[in-house]
Amino acid sequence: MKYDYILIRFGEISTKGKNRRLFVDRLKRNIKMVLRDYTGIRYESTRDRMTLTLNGEDAEGVTARLKNVFGIQSFSLAVKCPTDLHSIKETALASVKEQYKAGDTFKVSTKRAYKQFELDTNEMNAEIGGHILRNTDGLTVDVHSPDIHLRIEIREDATYLTFRDEKGAGGLPVGSGGKAMLMISGGIDSPVAGFYAMKRGLEIEAVHFFSPPYTSERAKQKVIDLTERLTAFGGDIKLHIVPFTKTQELIQKQIPENYSMTATRRLMLQIADKLREQNNALAIFTGESLGQVASQTLESMYAINAVTSTPVLRPLIGMDKTEIIEKAKELGTYDISIRPYEDCCTIFTPSAPKTRPKKEKIEHFESYTDFEPLIKEAVEKTETIVLKGKTEVKEKFADFF
Ligand code: ATP
Ligand code: MG
Repeated sequence: MKYDYILIRFGEISTKGKNRRLFVDRLKRNIKMVLRDYTGIRYESTRDRMTLTLNGEDAEGVTARLKNVFGIQSFSLAVKCPTDLHSIKETALASVKEQYKAGDTFKVSTKRAYKQFELDTNEMNAEIGGHILRNTDGLTVDVHSPDIHLRIEIREDATYLTFRDEKGAGGLPVGSGGKAMLMISGGIDSPVAGFYAMKRGLEIEAVHFFSPPYTSERAKQKVIDLTERLTAFGGDIKLHIVPFTKTQELIQKQIPENYSMTATRRLMLQIADKLREQNNALAIFTGESLGQVASQTLESMYAINAVTSTPVLRPLIGMDKTEIIEKAKELGTYDISIRPYEDCCTIFTPSAPKTRPKKEKIEHFESYTDFEPLIKEAVEKTETIVLKGKTEVKEKFADFF
Protein backbone atom coordinates (compact mmCIF):
# COMPACT_ATOMS: atom_id res chain seq x y z
CA MET A 1 0.00 0.00 0.00
CA LYS A 2 1.39 3.34 -0.93
CA TYR A 3 0.36 5.86 1.67
CA ASP A 4 0.48 9.56 0.80
CA TYR A 5 -0.18 11.05 4.22
CA ILE A 6 0.19 10.55 7.92
CA LEU A 7 -2.34 12.15 10.25
CA ILE A 8 -0.92 12.67 13.72
CA ARG A 9 -3.17 13.16 16.74
CA PHE A 10 -1.75 14.90 19.78
CA GLY A 11 -2.23 13.38 23.20
CA GLU A 12 -2.39 15.10 26.55
CA ILE A 13 -1.38 18.37 24.96
CA SER A 14 -4.89 18.82 23.66
CA THR A 15 -5.88 19.71 27.19
CA LYS A 16 -3.12 22.15 28.06
CA GLY A 17 -5.00 25.41 27.63
CA LYS A 18 -2.88 28.45 26.94
CA ASN A 19 0.32 26.46 27.02
CA ARG A 20 -0.78 24.28 24.18
CA ARG A 21 0.85 26.52 21.59
CA LEU A 22 4.21 25.91 23.23
CA PHE A 23 3.58 22.17 23.40
CA VAL A 24 2.44 21.92 19.81
CA ASP A 25 5.42 23.94 18.56
CA ARG A 26 7.79 21.75 20.53
CA LEU A 27 6.15 18.58 19.28
CA LYS A 28 6.38 19.79 15.70
CA ARG A 29 10.05 20.55 16.19
CA ASN A 30 10.71 17.13 17.71
CA ILE A 31 8.85 15.38 14.91
CA LYS A 32 10.84 17.30 12.31
CA MET A 33 14.05 16.48 14.13
CA VAL A 34 13.51 12.72 14.15
CA LEU A 35 12.44 12.82 10.50
CA ARG A 36 15.12 15.26 9.38
CA ASP A 37 16.63 12.89 6.82
CA TYR A 38 13.27 12.41 5.06
CA THR A 39 13.67 15.66 3.19
CA GLY A 40 10.62 15.28 0.96
CA ILE A 41 8.04 15.47 3.78
CA ARG A 42 5.83 18.57 4.07
CA TYR A 43 4.26 19.51 7.39
CA GLU A 44 0.97 21.17 8.15
CA SER A 45 -0.81 21.49 11.47
CA THR A 46 -4.09 22.54 12.98
CA ARG A 47 -5.25 22.81 16.59
CA ASP A 48 -5.15 19.18 17.51
CA ARG A 49 -3.48 17.37 14.71
CA MET A 50 -0.66 17.47 12.23
CA THR A 51 -0.59 16.19 8.68
CA LEU A 52 2.55 14.96 7.00
CA THR A 53 2.55 14.82 3.22
CA LEU A 54 5.02 12.11 2.38
CA ASN A 55 5.82 13.03 -1.22
CA GLY A 56 7.04 9.51 -1.88
CA GLU A 57 9.03 9.08 1.37
CA ASP A 58 8.87 5.63 2.98
CA ALA A 59 5.78 5.39 5.22
CA GLU A 60 7.10 2.39 7.17
CA GLY A 61 10.35 4.08 8.06
CA VAL A 62 8.53 7.23 9.12
CA THR A 63 6.08 5.15 11.19
CA ALA A 64 8.90 3.47 13.10
CA ARG A 65 10.41 6.84 14.04
CA LEU A 66 7.10 8.44 15.00
CA LYS A 67 6.37 5.68 17.50
CA ASN A 68 9.17 6.99 19.72
CA VAL A 69 8.08 10.62 19.78
CA PHE A 70 6.54 11.66 23.09
CA GLY A 71 3.40 13.78 22.79
CA ILE A 72 1.83 11.76 19.99
CA GLN A 73 -1.30 9.91 21.03
CA SER A 74 -1.91 8.06 17.78
CA PHE A 75 -1.42 8.44 14.08
CA SER A 76 -2.94 7.02 10.94
CA LEU A 77 -1.61 6.30 7.52
CA ALA A 78 -3.78 7.76 4.79
CA VAL A 79 -4.26 7.83 1.04
CA LYS A 80 -5.89 10.60 -0.92
CA CYS A 81 -8.19 10.34 -3.91
CA PRO A 82 -10.48 12.66 -5.87
CA THR A 83 -13.90 13.32 -4.35
CA ASP A 84 -16.01 11.21 -6.69
CA LEU A 85 -17.79 7.98 -5.87
CA HIS A 86 -16.01 5.85 -8.41
CA SER A 87 -12.50 6.89 -7.27
CA ILE A 88 -13.38 6.42 -3.61
CA LYS A 89 -14.78 2.93 -4.24
CA GLU A 90 -11.77 1.80 -6.21
CA THR A 91 -9.21 3.31 -3.81
CA ALA A 92 -11.00 1.78 -0.81
CA LEU A 93 -11.14 -1.66 -2.40
CA ALA A 94 -7.54 -1.62 -3.61
CA SER A 95 -6.19 -0.64 -0.23
CA VAL A 96 -8.29 -3.16 1.69
CA LYS A 97 -7.20 -5.89 -0.72
CA GLU A 98 -3.59 -5.14 0.01
CA GLN A 99 -3.86 -5.61 3.72
CA TYR A 100 -6.53 -8.18 4.59
CA LYS A 101 -6.15 -11.89 5.15
CA ALA A 102 -8.95 -14.49 5.02
CA GLY A 103 -11.02 -14.44 8.21
CA ASP A 104 -10.47 -10.73 8.85
CA THR A 105 -13.35 -8.38 9.62
CA PHE A 106 -13.78 -4.78 8.57
CA LYS A 107 -15.85 -1.69 9.04
CA VAL A 108 -16.31 1.52 7.07
CA SER A 109 -16.99 4.89 8.75
CA THR A 110 -17.58 7.99 6.71
CA LYS A 111 -17.32 11.62 7.72
CA ARG A 112 -18.68 14.20 5.32
CA ALA A 113 -17.17 17.65 5.61
CA TYR A 114 -18.46 18.33 2.11
CA LYS A 115 -22.23 18.15 2.61
CA GLN A 116 -23.09 18.44 -1.05
CA PHE A 117 -21.60 15.04 -1.79
CA GLU A 118 -24.13 12.82 -3.56
CA LEU A 119 -24.46 10.18 -0.80
CA ASP A 120 -24.87 10.74 2.93
CA THR A 121 -22.68 8.97 5.49
CA ASN A 122 -24.91 5.92 5.96
CA GLU A 123 -25.33 5.47 2.26
CA MET A 124 -21.58 5.78 1.79
CA ASN A 125 -20.82 3.17 4.49
CA ALA A 126 -23.24 0.77 2.82
CA GLU A 127 -22.02 1.52 -0.69
CA ILE A 128 -18.31 1.17 0.04
CA GLY A 129 -18.82 -1.77 2.43
CA GLY A 130 -20.93 -3.58 -0.17
CA HIS A 131 -18.36 -2.95 -2.88
CA ILE A 132 -15.59 -4.38 -0.71
CA LEU A 133 -17.68 -7.43 0.30
CA ARG A 134 -18.56 -8.26 -3.30
CA ASN A 135 -14.96 -8.07 -4.46
CA THR A 136 -13.08 -9.91 -1.72
CA ASP A 137 -13.04 -13.44 -0.26
CA GLY A 138 -13.17 -14.35 3.41
CA LEU A 139 -13.76 -10.82 4.67
CA THR A 140 -16.82 -10.01 6.79
CA VAL A 141 -18.22 -6.95 8.51
CA ASP A 142 -17.81 -6.34 12.24
CA VAL A 143 -18.87 -2.91 13.43
CA HIS A 144 -17.66 -3.40 17.01
CA SER A 145 -14.04 -4.53 16.82
CA PRO A 146 -12.99 -4.85 13.20
CA ASP A 147 -9.49 -5.92 12.16
CA ILE A 148 -9.53 -3.26 9.50
CA HIS A 149 -11.21 0.04 10.15
CA LEU A 150 -11.48 2.15 7.04
CA ARG A 151 -12.27 5.78 7.75
CA ILE A 152 -13.35 7.97 4.87
CA GLU A 153 -13.24 11.72 5.16
CA ILE A 154 -14.96 13.49 2.28
CA ARG A 155 -13.86 17.05 1.63
CA GLU A 156 -14.59 19.21 -1.36
CA ASP A 157 -11.04 19.27 -2.70
CA ALA A 158 -10.16 15.64 -1.96
CA THR A 159 -11.14 12.55 -0.02
CA TYR A 160 -8.87 10.93 2.59
CA LEU A 161 -8.95 7.24 3.42
CA THR A 162 -7.17 6.22 6.60
CA PHE A 163 -6.53 2.67 7.68
CA ARG A 164 -3.87 1.87 10.14
CA ASP A 165 -4.22 3.47 13.52
CA GLU A 166 -0.84 3.35 15.16
CA LYS A 167 -0.47 3.92 18.88
CA GLY A 168 1.91 6.77 19.74
CA ALA A 169 4.34 6.93 22.66
CA GLY A 170 2.03 9.15 24.75
CA GLY A 171 3.63 11.43 27.30
CA LEU A 172 4.57 15.05 26.63
CA PRO A 173 6.89 16.51 24.00
CA VAL A 174 10.51 16.38 25.11
CA GLY A 175 11.69 19.87 26.05
CA SER A 176 8.22 21.24 26.74
CA GLY A 177 8.73 20.88 30.49
CA GLY A 178 12.22 22.33 30.78
CA LYS A 179 15.54 20.65 31.43
CA ALA A 180 16.98 18.26 34.01
CA MET A 181 20.27 16.47 34.55
CA LEU A 182 20.33 12.66 34.50
CA MET A 183 23.00 10.96 36.58
CA ILE A 184 23.86 8.06 34.36
CA SER A 185 25.99 5.10 35.41
CA GLY A 186 26.68 2.09 33.23
CA GLY A 187 23.97 0.23 35.14
CA ILE A 188 20.50 -0.91 34.21
CA ASP A 189 18.50 1.63 36.15
CA SER A 190 19.64 5.13 35.28
CA PRO A 191 18.93 4.92 31.50
CA VAL A 192 15.40 3.81 32.35
CA ALA A 193 15.06 6.80 34.69
CA GLY A 194 16.16 8.99 31.77
CA PHE A 195 13.42 7.56 29.60
CA TYR A 196 10.78 8.46 32.17
CA ALA A 197 12.16 11.99 32.53
CA MET A 198 11.83 12.46 28.79
CA LYS A 199 8.40 10.89 28.72
CA ARG A 200 7.10 13.68 30.93
CA GLY A 201 8.41 16.33 28.60
CA LEU A 202 11.87 17.07 29.98
CA GLU A 203 14.99 17.61 27.98
CA ILE A 204 17.87 15.82 29.68
CA GLU A 205 21.61 16.31 29.88
CA ALA A 206 23.46 13.25 31.15
CA VAL A 207 26.25 13.36 33.75
CA HIS A 208 28.65 10.47 34.18
CA PHE A 209 31.48 10.07 36.69
CA PHE A 210 34.43 8.03 35.63
CA SER A 211 37.68 7.19 37.35
CA PRO A 212 40.52 6.26 35.05
CA PRO A 213 42.63 4.16 35.32
CA TYR A 214 40.33 2.29 37.73
CA THR A 215 37.61 2.37 35.10
CA SER A 216 38.42 1.70 31.46
CA GLU A 217 37.63 3.42 28.19
CA ARG A 218 35.19 0.61 27.50
CA ALA A 219 33.20 1.49 30.61
CA LYS A 220 32.99 5.05 29.31
CA GLN A 221 31.99 3.84 25.86
CA LYS A 222 29.17 1.89 27.46
CA VAL A 223 27.72 5.11 28.89
CA ILE A 224 28.13 6.86 25.55
CA ASP A 225 26.21 4.00 23.90
CA LEU A 226 23.48 4.12 26.55
CA THR A 227 23.05 7.85 26.09
CA GLU A 228 22.97 7.48 22.35
CA ARG A 229 20.20 4.95 22.70
CA LEU A 230 18.15 7.43 24.69
CA THR A 231 18.35 9.95 21.84
CA ALA A 232 15.72 7.87 20.02
CA PHE A 233 13.15 9.27 22.43
CA GLY A 234 14.04 12.93 22.29
CA GLY A 235 16.77 13.87 19.86
CA ASP A 236 20.30 15.04 20.65
CA ILE A 237 21.56 14.64 24.22
CA LYS A 238 24.57 16.29 25.86
CA LEU A 239 26.71 13.95 27.95
CA HIS A 240 29.03 15.44 30.57
CA ILE A 241 31.85 13.13 31.56
CA VAL A 242 33.33 14.08 34.91
CA PRO A 243 36.84 12.97 35.91
CA PHE A 244 36.33 11.61 39.40
CA THR A 245 39.56 9.75 40.21
CA LYS A 246 41.18 12.35 42.46
CA THR A 247 38.00 12.84 44.48
CA GLN A 248 37.57 9.13 44.99
CA GLU A 249 41.19 8.73 46.06
CA LEU A 250 40.82 11.50 48.57
CA ILE A 251 37.66 9.93 49.95
CA GLN A 252 39.51 6.61 50.34
CA LYS A 253 42.20 8.37 52.27
CA GLN A 254 40.10 10.62 54.48
CA ILE A 255 36.74 9.02 55.17
CA PRO A 256 36.20 5.90 57.29
CA GLU A 257 35.63 2.97 55.00
CA ASN A 258 32.04 2.26 56.00
CA TYR A 259 31.11 5.87 55.17
CA SER A 260 33.08 6.18 51.92
CA MET A 261 30.08 5.21 49.80
CA THR A 262 27.96 7.90 51.40
CA ALA A 263 30.71 10.49 50.86
CA THR A 264 31.12 9.41 47.23
CA ARG A 265 27.45 9.89 46.53
CA ARG A 266 27.36 13.24 48.27
CA LEU A 267 30.29 14.50 46.21
CA MET A 268 28.78 13.19 42.99
CA LEU A 269 25.57 14.98 43.78
CA GLN A 270 27.37 18.25 44.55
CA ILE A 271 29.28 18.11 41.28
CA ALA A 272 26.17 17.17 39.32
CA ASP A 273 24.41 20.10 40.94
CA LYS A 274 27.13 22.52 39.83
CA LEU A 275 26.81 21.24 36.28
CA ARG A 276 23.05 21.58 36.54
CA GLU A 277 23.41 25.20 37.50
CA GLN A 278 25.87 25.91 34.69
CA ASN A 279 23.50 24.39 32.18
CA ASN A 280 20.31 26.01 33.44
CA ALA A 281 18.58 22.80 34.45
CA LEU A 282 16.19 22.61 37.40
CA ALA A 283 16.36 19.06 38.71
CA ILE A 284 18.55 15.97 38.93
CA PHE A 285 17.29 12.51 37.98
CA THR A 286 18.76 9.28 39.31
CA GLY A 287 18.00 5.60 38.81
CA GLU A 288 17.58 4.93 42.49
CA SER A 289 14.86 2.63 43.72
CA LEU A 290 14.18 2.23 47.40
CA GLY A 291 15.85 -0.65 49.17
CA GLN A 292 17.79 -2.04 46.24
CA VAL A 293 21.31 -1.66 47.60
CA ALA A 294 23.09 -0.17 50.63
CA SER A 295 23.08 3.37 49.28
CA GLN A 296 19.38 3.24 48.57
CA THR A 297 17.85 2.97 52.00
CA LEU A 298 15.79 5.90 53.13
CA GLU A 299 18.46 6.86 55.71
CA SER A 300 21.07 6.80 53.01
CA MET A 301 19.04 8.92 50.64
CA TYR A 302 18.51 11.42 53.43
CA ALA A 303 22.21 11.67 54.22
CA ILE A 304 23.17 11.98 50.55
CA ASN A 305 20.39 14.35 49.54
CA ALA A 306 21.33 16.77 52.35
CA VAL A 307 24.03 18.38 50.17
CA THR A 308 21.49 20.14 47.97
CA SER A 309 18.03 21.60 47.94
CA THR A 310 17.70 20.97 44.19
CA PRO A 311 14.90 18.48 43.48
CA VAL A 312 16.41 15.02 43.09
CA LEU A 313 13.83 12.98 41.20
CA ARG A 314 13.74 9.21 41.19
CA PRO A 315 11.18 7.89 38.73
CA LEU A 316 12.00 4.23 39.52
CA ILE A 317 11.35 4.60 43.23
CA GLY A 318 8.29 2.40 43.23
CA MET A 319 9.51 -0.21 40.78
CA ASP A 320 10.86 -3.69 41.48
CA LYS A 321 14.12 -4.69 39.84
CA THR A 322 12.31 -7.16 37.57
CA GLU A 323 10.04 -4.40 36.29
CA ILE A 324 13.01 -2.13 35.65
CA ILE A 325 14.80 -4.90 33.76
CA GLU A 326 11.73 -5.52 31.64
CA LYS A 327 11.54 -1.84 30.73
CA ALA A 328 15.27 -1.69 29.97
CA LYS A 329 14.84 -4.60 27.57
CA GLU A 330 12.00 -2.82 25.84
CA LEU A 331 14.07 0.32 25.46
CA GLY A 332 17.05 -1.57 24.11
CA THR A 333 19.34 -0.36 26.91
CA TYR A 334 19.53 -3.66 28.80
CA ASP A 335 22.03 -5.39 26.52
CA ILE A 336 24.36 -2.42 26.76
CA SER A 337 23.98 -2.16 30.53
CA ILE A 338 24.95 -5.77 31.17
CA ARG A 339 28.29 -5.48 29.35
CA PRO A 340 30.72 -6.49 32.08
CA TYR A 341 32.73 -3.32 32.59
CA GLU A 342 33.44 -1.84 35.95
CA ASP A 343 31.77 1.30 37.27
CA CYS A 344 33.64 3.82 39.40
CA CYS A 345 31.43 3.03 42.37
CA THR A 346 31.76 -0.72 42.21
CA ILE A 347 35.52 -0.48 42.29
CA PHE A 348 35.62 1.63 45.40
CA THR A 349 32.70 -0.09 47.11
CA PRO A 350 33.71 -0.98 50.65
CA SER A 351 33.10 -4.52 51.84
CA ALA A 352 30.60 -3.36 54.45
CA PRO A 353 29.05 0.01 53.57
CA LYS A 354 26.85 1.58 56.20
CA THR A 355 23.24 0.86 55.30
CA ARG A 356 21.90 3.43 57.75
CA PRO A 357 24.39 6.28 57.60
CA LYS A 358 23.80 9.31 59.78
CA LYS A 359 23.89 12.74 58.18
CA GLU A 360 25.63 14.26 61.21
CA LYS A 361 28.35 11.62 61.13
CA ILE A 362 29.17 11.98 57.45
CA GLU A 363 29.21 15.75 57.84
CA HIS A 364 31.60 15.35 60.71
CA PHE A 365 33.92 13.03 58.78
CA GLU A 366 33.91 15.33 55.78
CA SER A 367 34.64 18.40 57.90
CA TYR A 368 38.30 17.42 58.26
CA THR A 369 38.93 17.66 54.53
CA ASP A 370 38.47 20.47 52.04
CA PHE A 371 36.82 18.87 49.04
CA GLU A 372 35.96 22.20 47.40
CA PRO A 373 39.08 22.51 45.21
CA LEU A 374 38.52 19.02 43.85
CA ILE A 375 34.86 19.69 43.17
CA LYS A 376 35.85 22.82 41.28
CA GLU A 377 38.53 21.01 39.32
CA ALA A 378 36.19 18.14 38.41
CA VAL A 379 33.64 20.61 37.08
CA GLU A 380 36.29 22.48 35.10
CA LYS A 381 37.77 19.35 33.58
CA THR A 382 34.42 17.87 32.62
CA GLU A 383 34.31 16.83 29.00
CA THR A 384 31.04 17.41 27.19
CA ILE A 385 29.98 15.54 24.07
CA VAL A 386 26.75 15.81 22.11
CA LEU A 387 25.17 12.58 20.98
CA LYS A 388 23.18 12.76 17.82
CA GLY A 389 20.48 10.20 17.29
CA LYS A 390 21.42 7.42 14.93
CA THR A 391 18.77 6.50 12.45
CA GLU A 392 19.49 2.76 12.55
CA VAL A 393 19.16 2.71 16.32
CA LYS A 394 15.85 4.51 16.24
CA GLU A 395 14.30 2.05 13.89
CA LYS A 396 15.05 -0.86 16.16
CA PHE A 397 12.73 0.67 18.74
CA ALA A 398 9.77 0.48 16.45
CA ASP A 399 7.58 -1.84 18.48
CA PHE A 400 8.12 -0.70 21.99
CA PHE A 401 4.93 1.13 22.74
P1 ATP B 1 22.20 1.93 38.06
O1 ATP B 1 21.72 0.65 37.49
O2 ATP B 1 21.56 3.12 37.45
O3 ATP B 1 23.71 2.01 38.15
P2 ATP B 1 22.16 0.90 40.67
O4 ATP B 1 20.99 0.13 41.08
O5 ATP B 1 23.40 0.18 40.26
O6 ATP B 1 21.70 1.92 39.54
P3 ATP B 1 23.76 2.61 42.28
O7 ATP B 1 24.98 2.08 41.64
O8 ATP B 1 23.65 2.68 43.75
O9 ATP B 1 22.46 1.86 41.87
O10 ATP B 1 23.49 4.07 41.71
C1 ATP B 1 22.35 4.81 42.05
C2 ATP B 1 22.23 5.97 41.12
O11 ATP B 1 23.34 6.85 41.24
C3 ATP B 1 22.27 5.54 39.66
O12 ATP B 1 21.01 5.13 39.21
C4 ATP B 1 22.74 6.80 38.99
O13 ATP B 1 21.68 7.68 38.81
C5 ATP B 1 23.74 7.35 40.00
N1 ATP B 1 25.11 6.89 39.65
C6 ATP B 1 25.75 5.81 40.12
N2 ATP B 1 26.98 5.71 39.58
C7 ATP B 1 27.13 6.77 38.77
C8 ATP B 1 28.18 7.24 37.91
N3 ATP B 1 29.33 6.60 37.79
N4 ATP B 1 27.96 8.36 37.21
C9 ATP B 1 26.79 9.03 37.31
N5 ATP B 1 25.78 8.64 38.09
C10 ATP B 1 25.94 7.52 38.82
MG1 MG C 1 25.14 1.16 39.49
